[in-house]
Amino acid sequence: MNYNSTRNKNTVVTASQAIAQGISEEGGLFVPQSLPQYSLDDIKALAAMDYRGRAKKIFADYLSDFSAEEINESVDAAYTAEKFGSDNPAPISYIECGDKKISVLELWHGPTCAFKDMALQILPHLLTKSVKKTYSGKEAVILVATSGDTGKAALEGFKDVDGTRMMVFYPVNGVSPMQKRQMATQKGNNVSVVAIEGNFDDAQTGVKKIFTNSEIKARLADNNMLFSSANSINWGRLLPQVVYYFSAYCDMVNEGKIGLGDKINVAVPTGNFGNILASFYAMNMGLPVNKFICASNANNVLTDFIRTGTYNRKRSFYTTISPSMDILVSSNLERLLYHLTGGDDARVAKWMKELSETGSYTVDDEIKARLGELFYGGFCDDEHTLETISALYKNENYLSDTHTAVAVNVYDQYVEQTGDKTPVVLASTASPYKFAKSVLTAVSDGQLPDDEFAMVDALSAQTKTAVPAPLASLKDAEVRFTTECSVDEMPAVVLGSLGIN
Ligand SMILES: *Cc1c(COP(=O)(O)O)cnc(C)c1O
Repeated sequence: MNYNSTRNKNTVVTASQAIAQGISEEGGLFVPQSLPQYSLDDIKALAAMDYRGRAKKIFADYLSDFSAEEINESVDAAYTAEKFGSDNPAPISYIECGDKKISVLELWHGPTCAFKDMALQILPHLLTKSVKKTYSGKEAVILVATSGDTGKAALEGFKDVDGTRMMVFYPVNGVSPMQKRQMATQKGNNVSVVAIEGNFDDAQTGVKKIFTNSEIKARLADNNMLFSSANSINWGRLLPQVVYYFSAYCDMVNEGKIGLGDKINVAVPTGNFGNILASFYAMNMGLPVNKFICASNANNVLTDFIRTGTYNRKRSFYTTISPSMDILVSSNLERLLYHLTGGDDARVAKWMKELSETGSYTVDDEIKARLGELFYGGFCDDEHTLETISALYKNENYLSDTHTAVAVNVYDQYVEQTGDKTPVVLASTASPYKFAKSVLTAVSDGQLPDDEFAMVDALSAQTKTAVPAPLASLKDAEVRFTTECSVDEMPAVVLGSLGIN
């Protein structure tokens, strides 16, 4: 199976090229030329396998230039019980909210306690194998700008992976104390972490400038290195996310929650549109899905888009208590548009050009109608997020993080407005302990301690739940990275750390 660019169908690459390159030359994203089709019998066969077996089957159908051995090796190395706490890295908690039953798909049992681990634990394996196939012998240098979760998950995934070097840049005052500590104490001989004097956009722009700097690229080439990307537009990050929607469906069938062939709804707290798009791919492969519920926080650009057909990023940016969804340009939406238009690269390219030049675009009525049939868009502000965490805890004894709570709130709105009680799979994207301050604010009446680790302990004491081991161990972990630099100094810092300045 080959891949096209969303902005130019004449671009055709193999799976390994798509993964090694990350993004197409003209700025488009790589999409599969066709989707494997699974019948109910195929899904039944998946249901008889464990998570790794399901992943191997789905990966094999998409990564046609990988050998079975390469796929098995990648999957077996990524989804271990040691890393994810059990042989099922994506278990479901079934909760009942009043007369609503929610299957909460917990995607945060990995090493960094956020759902990014589901993709970033396997990406290094896929990427190194892809680089070997396409740029044999070169070392991949991966630069990441992060507002928190991606950086840590990428570091954990790539630490000590042969043939890779990784540098992560984060805004010095733009991440939570827990996220900062997670990154500053990172282990691994091929990774480094640098704080940027500026905000996330500054870090992102700085990284993009280095990626496209021909002098730096030449210096890397001289040293047998090349730049690669681990961000969420890489096909190698999207594909692993398709697996857990099939897996959740299989688990629900096996546990008698639904019958084989029954439809489900899917609710996802959304930022860059990667997670929810993976469920859209699953449906187009044959997973019985009725509706996608796209949940946003106060940065509700997607809610407006789904409701009006106009995407408009010219609006206030809000810093919320669900920071991983604080985003105004959802990159992966481009892939959805490509598929909804039946692969109309020219139309997608035109909309993306309008977005970058004018800040907005409007899709045709036919696309808007299709979007509305498939997707429900809703949003929830911080106050209602806290109320939702509090109600879930008091009424259902379920402790939810801020992002997951946004999805629960929007799902409630959906059911209220439509009466649709189709069984729902709701993606839970982070451990509540990763956002201990907000969660503690929601569930406790007392005074909050002021130290992050004291809050974590208080949350554990109050709710009688265990602190995830990777977060508990941070308190005593050695701080390894303290470098701060200005955006202008970033190129020198990169070359210095690679030892080629
Ligand atoms: C990244 C992230 C999201 C948003 O996921 P997208 O795939 O970007 O839509 C939601 N919640 C958490 C905790 C995240 O880290």
